[in-house]
Amino acid sequence: MEIWYGVGNKMKNLLRHLKQFLLLDMLQGFGITLANLFRKKYTLMYPYETTPISPRFRGEHALRRYPNGEERCIACKLCEAVCPAQAITIEAEPRSDGSRRTTRYDIDMVKCIYCGLCEEACPVDAIVEGPNMEFAAEDRKTLVYTKAKLLANGERLEPTLAERLKKDGGYR
Ligand code: SF4
Ligand code: SF4
Repeated sequence: MEIWYGVGNKMKNLLRHLKQFLLLDMLQGFGITLANLFRKKYTLMYPYETTPISPRFRGEHALRRYPNGEERCIACKLCEAVCPAQAITIEAEPRSDGSRRTTRYDIDMVKCIYCGLCEEACPVDAIVEGPNMEFAAEDRKTLVYTKAKLLANGERLEPTLAERLKKDGGYR
């Protein structure tokens, strides 16, 4: 029994040495490199190329207007109340025509945790989170978005925002 055990060990050693001598591990590695050389590349040249973005992506905020130019926001403050980070500050007063509109609508983008609750709470689809994720800044002050900035975002991105809301509408 011990004789066979010894022979088995010798054979194993011999095969190991043969494998090392023939550089089989290295050839196997080269084979994998060669096979992957002609595969479709997964690396994207960001920022020139980007991955597809889901309609539910929660990026930079925007305030939307109706097609006639009127602000959608009715200053109900639901978004301010629901915001878990207390990032939204709203002040409002009635206009001369009796409608209620905000006089101040700030979002502190540094406090924001991009949960999307403000968007979900809004009864008129006024505050939304858009696809833009490239809004880094070097100081905090720039990241406190005012109403003017949020409305400007809305005007710039309206076609995209409307399309995203439409795509996601069936799941709300
Ligand atoms: S995304 Fe969330 S944390 Fe950010 S403003 Fe909206 S409710 Fe607040
Ligand atoms: S954005 Fe929507 S939820 Fe927030 S105050 Fe305006 S209407 Fe109300």
